[in-house]
Amino acid sequence: MSYLEYCSNCGKKNIYGFIDGGLRYHCLNCNSIHYENPKPTSTLICPESKNILLVKRAVEPGKGLWGLPGGFIELNETPDQAAIRELKEETNLDGRVNCQLGYTSHFNSLHGDILLLAFLMDVSDFKDMVAGDDADDAKLFPLNQLPQLAFTSHEKIVEMYINYLNKLKLSV
Ligand SMILES: [Zn+2]
Repeated sequence: MSYLEYCSNCGKKNIYGFIDGGLRYHCLNCNSIHYENPKPTSTLICPESKNILLVKRAVEPGKGLWGLPGGFIELNETPDQAAIRELKEETNLDGRVNCQLGYTSHFNSLHGDILLLAFLMDVSDFKDMVAGDDADDAKLFPLNQLPQLAFTSHEKIVEMYINYLNKLKLSV
Protein backbone atom coordinates (compact mmCIF):
# COMPACT_ATOMS: atom_id res chain seq x y z
CA MET A 1 0.00 0.00 0.00
CA SER A 2 1.35 3.40 -0.86
CA TYR A 3 1.07 6.00 1.85
CA LEU A 4 -1.30 8.06 -0.28
CA GLU A 5 -3.63 5.23 -1.22
CA TYR A 6 -6.37 6.75 0.92
CA CYS A 7 -7.48 10.37 1.22
CA SER A 8 -6.25 11.94 4.46
CA ASN A 9 -9.22 14.31 4.33
CA CYS A 10 -12.20 11.95 3.88
CA GLY A 11 -10.73 8.44 3.97
CA LYS A 12 -11.91 7.35 0.51
CA LYS A 13 -9.52 5.83 -1.99
CA ASN A 14 -7.36 8.32 -3.89
CA ILE A 15 -6.59 8.04 -7.56
CA TYR A 16 -3.22 8.87 -9.11
CA GLY A 17 -3.48 10.96 -12.24
CA PHE A 18 -2.97 14.28 -13.96
CA ILE A 19 -4.48 17.21 -12.08
CA ASP A 20 -3.45 20.85 -11.53
CA GLY A 21 -0.47 20.61 -13.84
CA GLY A 22 1.06 17.34 -12.69
CA LEU A 23 0.64 13.69 -11.75
CA ARG A 24 -0.67 13.67 -8.20
CA TYR A 25 -2.74 11.62 -5.81
CA HIS A 26 -6.17 13.16 -5.50
CA CYS A 27 -9.60 12.30 -4.20
CA LEU A 28 -12.66 12.29 -6.42
CA ASN A 29 -14.93 12.18 -3.37
CA CYS A 30 -13.88 15.42 -1.65
CA ASN A 31 -11.69 16.91 -4.43
CA SER A 32 -8.59 17.09 -2.22
CA ILE A 33 -5.33 17.18 -4.13
CA HIS A 34 -2.48 15.61 -2.16
CA TYR A 35 0.54 17.69 -3.13
CA GLU A 36 3.95 16.22 -2.46
CA ASN A 37 7.13 18.20 -1.98
CA PRO A 38 10.77 17.43 -1.32
CA LYS A 39 11.76 17.20 2.33
CA PRO A 40 14.28 19.86 3.33
CA THR A 41 17.45 19.01 5.21
CA SER A 42 20.35 21.01 6.56
CA THR A 43 23.63 19.39 5.56
CA LEU A 44 26.87 20.62 7.06
CA ILE A 45 30.45 21.35 6.19
CA CYS A 46 32.39 21.74 9.46
CA PRO A 47 36.01 22.57 8.72
CA GLU A 48 38.93 22.32 11.06
CA SER A 49 42.03 23.65 9.32
CA LYS A 50 42.33 21.55 6.12
CA ASN A 51 39.99 18.87 7.43
CA ILE A 52 36.24 18.48 7.41
CA LEU A 53 34.00 16.58 9.76
CA LEU A 54 32.32 13.39 8.59
CA VAL A 55 30.02 11.02 10.44
CA LYS A 56 29.66 7.29 9.90
CA ARG A 57 25.98 6.68 9.26
CA ALA A 58 24.30 4.36 11.76
CA VAL A 59 21.04 4.05 9.80
CA GLU A 60 19.91 3.53 6.24
CA PRO A 61 20.22 4.97 3.72
CA GLY A 62 23.97 4.73 3.47
CA LYS A 63 24.42 2.79 6.73
CA GLY A 64 28.10 2.17 7.47
CA LEU A 65 29.25 4.82 5.02
CA TRP A 66 30.69 8.24 5.78
CA GLY A 67 28.63 11.30 5.11
CA LEU A 68 28.26 14.92 6.05
CA PRO A 69 26.50 15.64 9.32
CA GLY A 70 22.96 16.95 9.07
CA GLY A 71 19.35 15.92 8.88
CA PHE A 72 15.75 16.83 8.31
CA ILE A 73 14.44 20.22 9.32
CA GLU A 74 11.67 19.84 11.91
CA LEU A 75 8.42 21.77 12.00
CA ASN A 76 8.78 25.23 13.57
CA GLU A 77 12.51 25.16 13.04
CA THR A 78 14.64 27.32 10.76
CA PRO A 79 17.33 25.70 8.59
CA ASP A 80 19.98 27.33 10.82
CA GLN A 81 18.41 25.90 13.96
CA ALA A 82 18.27 22.47 12.34
CA ALA A 83 21.95 22.75 11.41
CA ILE A 84 22.99 23.56 14.97
CA ARG A 85 20.71 20.90 16.49
CA GLU A 86 21.80 18.12 14.12
CA LEU A 87 25.47 18.89 14.71
CA LYS A 88 24.92 18.65 18.46
CA GLU A 89 22.87 15.42 18.20
CA GLU A 90 25.27 13.63 15.88
CA THR A 91 28.62 14.81 17.21
CA ASN A 92 28.04 16.65 20.53
CA LEU A 93 29.71 19.70 18.97
CA ASP A 94 28.52 23.27 19.33
CA GLY A 95 28.62 25.23 16.11
CA ARG A 96 27.14 28.25 14.48
CA VAL A 97 26.19 28.89 10.88
CA ASN A 98 28.79 30.86 8.95
CA CYS A 99 26.99 30.98 5.58
CA GLN A 100 24.92 28.97 3.17
CA LEU A 101 27.08 27.29 0.53
CA GLY A 102 24.23 26.36 -1.80
CA TYR A 103 21.70 23.63 -2.28
CA THR A 104 21.23 20.40 -4.16
CA SER A 105 18.54 17.77 -4.64
CA HIS A 106 18.41 14.02 -4.19
CA PHE A 107 15.50 12.37 -5.98
CA ASN A 108 13.89 9.04 -5.10
CA SER A 109 15.88 8.43 -1.96
CA LEU A 110 14.64 6.07 0.74
CA HIS A 111 12.77 9.10 2.15
CA GLY A 112 11.52 10.35 -1.22
CA ASP A 113 12.82 13.54 -2.77
CA ILE A 114 15.18 15.51 -0.57
CA LEU A 115 16.24 19.13 -0.79
CA LEU A 116 19.65 19.61 0.82
CA LEU A 117 20.54 23.07 2.08
CA ALA A 118 24.29 23.20 2.54
CA PHE A 119 25.72 25.24 5.39
CA LEU A 120 29.26 26.13 6.29
CA MET A 121 29.56 25.88 10.07
CA ASP A 122 31.99 27.44 12.49
CA VAL A 123 33.00 25.03 15.22
CA SER A 124 35.48 26.60 17.61
CA ASP A 125 36.35 23.48 19.57
CA PHE A 126 36.34 19.85 18.41
CA LYS A 127 37.61 18.34 21.65
CA ASP A 128 34.16 17.30 22.93
CA MET A 129 33.36 15.40 19.74
CA VAL A 130 31.37 12.23 20.50
CA ALA A 131 29.36 10.31 17.91
CA GLY A 132 25.72 10.05 18.86
CA ASP A 133 22.18 9.73 17.59
CA ASP A 134 22.31 8.58 13.95
CA ALA A 135 26.11 8.43 13.87
CA ASP A 136 28.38 5.46 14.69
CA ASP A 137 31.53 7.54 14.50
CA ALA A 138 32.60 11.12 13.91
CA LYS A 139 36.00 12.04 12.56
CA LEU A 140 37.93 14.78 10.81
CA PHE A 141 39.25 13.87 7.36
CA PRO A 142 41.69 15.82 5.19
CA LEU A 143 39.65 17.50 2.47
CA ASN A 144 41.91 16.04 -0.22
CA GLN A 145 41.67 12.48 1.18
CA LEU A 146 38.00 11.95 1.84
CA PRO A 147 36.56 8.45 1.78
CA GLN A 148 33.80 7.67 -0.68
CA LEU A 149 30.71 9.47 0.63
CA ALA A 150 27.32 7.86 1.10
CA PHE A 151 25.56 10.10 -1.40
CA THR A 152 26.34 11.96 -4.61
CA SER A 153 24.50 14.92 -3.09
CA HIS A 154 27.07 15.07 -0.28
CA GLU A 155 29.89 14.96 -2.83
CA LYS A 156 28.28 17.90 -4.59
CA ILE A 157 28.22 19.84 -1.32
CA VAL A 158 31.93 19.11 -0.78
CA GLU A 159 32.51 20.52 -4.29
CA MET A 160 30.56 23.64 -3.29
CA TYR A 161 32.88 24.05 -0.34
CA ILE A 162 36.00 23.60 -2.50
CA ASN A 163 34.64 26.22 -4.93
CA TYR A 164 33.97 28.51 -2.01
CA LEU A 165 37.58 28.11 -0.80
CA ASN A 166 38.91 28.74 -4.31
CA LYS A 167 36.90 31.97 -4.57
CA LEU A 168 38.24 33.09 -1.20
CA LYS A 169 41.80 32.54 -2.43
CA LEU A 170 41.10 34.55 -5.59
CA SER A 171 39.69 37.45 -3.60
CA VAL A 172 42.74 37.94 -1.33
ZN1 LIG B 1 -11.17 12.81 0.02
